[in-house]
Amino acid sequence: MTDIIVEYLYIVSAVLFVLSLKFMSEVRTSRVGNFCAVAGMGLAVVATLDAFHVGRVDLLVGGVVIGSVVGAPIGLKVAMTGIPQRTAMSHAFGSLAVALVGVAEYYQGQPGIDTFSMSVLSAEMILGFLTFTGSIMAFAKLQGIVSGRPILFRGRTVVSLTTLGAAVASGVLLVAYQDQQIILPVMAALALLFGFQLVVAIGGADMPTVIAILNSFAGLSAAALGFVLNNKLLIVAGSLDGSSGLILALIMSQAMNRSFVNILFGGVGAVRSESTVKPGEPGKTAQAYTVEDVATVLGNARSVVFAPGYGMAVAQAQHVVKELADVLEARGVDVKYAIHPVAGRMPGHMNVLLAEAQVPYDQLWEMERINPLFPETDVVIVVGANDVTNPAARTKTDSPLYGMPILDVDKAKTVVFVKRSMNPGFSGVENDLFYNPNTMMVFGDAKRVVSELVAVMRKQKT
Ligand code: NDP
Repeated sequence: MTDIIVEYLYIVSAVLFVLSLKFMSEVRTSRVGNFCAVAGMGLAVVATLDAFHVGRVDLLVGGVVIGSVVGAPIGLKVAMTGIPQRTAMSHAFGSLAVALVGVAEYYQGQPGIDTFSMSVLSAEMILGFLTFTGSIMAFAKLQGIVSGRPILFRGRTVVSLTTLGAAVASGVLLVAYQDQQIILPVMAALALLFGFQLVVAIGGADMPTVIAILNSFAGLSAAALGFVLNNKLLIVAGSLDGSSGLILALIMSQAMNRSFVNILFGGVGAVRSESTVKPGEPGKTAQAYTVEDVATVLGNARSVVFAPGYGMAVAQAQHVVKELADVLEARGVDVKYAIHPVAGRMPGHMNVLLAEAQVPYDQLWEMERINPLFPETDVVIVVGANDVTNPAARTKTDSPLYGMPILDVDKAKTVVFVKRSMNPGFSGVENDLFYNPNTMMVFGDAKRVVSELVAVMRKQKT
């Protein structure tokens, strides 16, 4: 392949990457977006192999086989709810690879690397190494290998920032004294330590946002490596990865009404907030109902909104929810789904699950559009959601949820909560809505409860 063909293939790959992001921003076109990304990466790999005149094809094939044997089963078996931690592992390995390529470039090129390239290399290695340990910690927290609670101690921010400062100072020294090879391992160790310190102090509920931020770091690191290797496609792909990760993290933090500083250094989640309502308090008891009770209420409803959350994903209840919606629609009931931007554990989580269950797109209502409709809604069925419905976000200024826009399900005539217990959601904040007089608590696994509800409703006379 001539150099000019390689350049053209790189341009086509870059265009496919941009198109993939564009298409993936909408549920309808997301499959096409995925295809564009795969095709772009395939072309990029072929062009790069040719451009770099790879001599040892056996090593290359060996690497691809080992990677595929490990990666394919993980990709096929991982549950939808496990995608955030799987993404964290991908970032960990990706950023480690980028950092190690940087290390190899340094040892091959020093002491004759020009100042610009050496500065970029230092920055790239610091970002790559800190993203590696940060992503490993994020994985461990999400997988429950270590506690999801932020591990906090007095002066932690100063300690973390000092570590980062020392890593950056080592990077500067490495630029000035390239021949002092001892500096590189010191810099790498400090960057690895900072990545660990950064994420260990962040609560498990914030991990998906942290993963988006780490994604952005990994992208920037790859873009920097592109400058060193003089590979334009790596610069484009890294920049796209870096900027899209940052935009995603911004969207997620806005949806939770939190700033980056608060997410990274706020230590949110260390303290469990208490409910202002105690079980058994006179006049304020949570009422447990049966599926038959709910079926009776639904029998008189003209409009029903489903508000799904993380519990629906865990229970894989989306298909039975759709069945219930079909039963209701067959009776002339108006059915909608209320989609909160951070319901579940990753952006678009509910959209993906409901699309899988063949729910029509026009029944998915984003939070801003559905909220004004709740006062007119007869019944809201909250399926495994909690934090995204918690009115503490509106009223309790000391709550970690305060300020987060929520689904105003409490304004509906009747609210049915389907969950297994009175336990709080990911934020650890109690939900006072469980004790409202118009709330019906139905305890049990979401799939089981909704299936039973479908069976009871099918038996009902219409
Ligand atoms: P929550 O984590 O608040 O609540 C989920 C509820 O599901 C729990 O209270 C649990 O109650 C219930 N549940 C669990 N398993 C089952 C089951 N098998 N059947 C029925 N119910 C079940 O989820 P939400 O979706 O309401 O909120 C998402 C949270 O995650 C928010 O705090 C958000 O800020 C956070 N987050 C989300 C991100 C995203 O991108 N989506 C990113 C970062 C954070 P019980 O144990 O009693 O069953």
